[in-house]
Amino acid sequence: MNIPVQHTTPASTAPVVPLLARHERTFEGNRFVYPALSRRSGGISVGVNLNPDKVCNFDCIYCQVDRTSLSETRFIATKELLDELESTLRLVISGDIYRTEKFQDTPRAQRRLNDIAFSGDGEPTTYRNFDEIVAACAEVKRRLCGPDVKLVLITNASMFHRRHVRRGLEILDANNGEIWAKLEAGTEAYFQLVDRTTIPFRQILDNITAAAQVRPLVIQALFMRVHGQPPPPEELDAFCDRLSEIIAAGGQIKLVQVYTVARQPAESYVRPLADAEVDAIVQLVRRRTGLAAAAFYGVAS
Ligand code: SF4
Repeated sequence: MNIPVQHTTPASTAPVVPLLARHERTFEGNRFVYPALSRRSGGISVGVNLNPDKVCNFDCIYCQVDRTSLSETRFIATKELLDELESTLRLVISGDIYRTEKFQDTPRAQRRLNDIAFSGDGEPTTYRNFDEIVAACAEVKRRLCGPDVKLVLITNASMFHRRHVRRGLEILDANNGEIWAKLEAGTEAYFQLVDRTTIPFRQILDNITAAAQVRPLVIQALFMRVHGQPPPPEELDAFCDRLSEIIAAGGQIKLVQVYTVARQPAESYVRPLADAEVDAIVQLVRRRTGLAAAAFYGVAS
């Protein structure tokens, strides 16, 4: 899953933090753990890449993972991953990270560890030992970090119906966890246009609803221009309808993050929305669903 960017100030006045293109998945020779300045959290997010083989069960047209080259790392080496997590957390907590070339420009207000994020070059919940790795990372977090540091799962929600994934979600819940589930369509047709997967849209909706009935979710919705066209108004209406159905079924959504393409996408016909277009979707979501919604802009294009 891609880690999008955050604007925590009101959408129309929020600055663009110029570390946008720096979400490389490697840091100082690490293979699985990478720190990133997250505009969405306004701090450092330490990413854990559970898909070093770059395999994903979606093929999103806006994906920024470079799949034109093969990865040298195909499998998770658990001990190495946990060692990398520990050393990276120590680097952030000590502040030494801000002496590195890559992070020396980090604004002072954002020099804080916000979260450990399961993310990376594919869908993290497809990792077959997902629950075990979440538990092991939670143990490292408990040992090294304050209780306010979150454990975030950035996910396409396609595997929530699997038992071991549900166990992993429960471990997140017990460790200041937050689930950022992707939902960026209102109809099967648009879902397939954007996310390109064999998994039915209904499965994603059912999974999100079931997970949201247990704990509040964050929804990530990326909208863009496809062949020059922004999402049709009827698609955005259908998107709001799907959100309302989740709430009507007893699901809790604490925030809808509306964002757009911020980095080089998989397909060249994908372009970012203008800031005003992102703002308009945020307003629509607020008006139609009553949910909290926030805007995350693309880069100036
Ligand atoms: S879910 Fe989509 S954006 Fe995320 S890694 Fe898979 S293809 Fe890329």
